[in-house]
Amino acid sequence: MKLISMTEYVLKIAKERIDYEVRMEDQREADGYNFCITCGRNDCQPVTCAHIISVKEAKETGRTELCWSVKNMVPEGLPCHQKRDKLNLF
Ligand SMILES: [Zn+2]
Repeated sequence: MKLISMTEYVLKIAKERIDYEVRMEDQREADGYNFCITCGRNDCQPVTCAHIISVKEAKETGRTELCWSVKNMVPEGLPCHQKRDKLNLF
């Protein structure tokens, strides 16, 4: 594992934050509001930005760039996200 400088770390966090906002904004622009793309329900709340490939899996498989990639993020309701996290344990 490569050590990164504090500046690099802060920039990565800032970039992830921007990617998150961009992804949520994209959906709001296209559909008018944020909803869970997993179940498509309005009542799957709160909608957060979830990683398609989990951060853990990305790190374990050496694809750390996926942790920060907007392509790896989708708006997903917390109930679905938690269900998926549980499934990932097995
Ligand atoms: Zn859902």
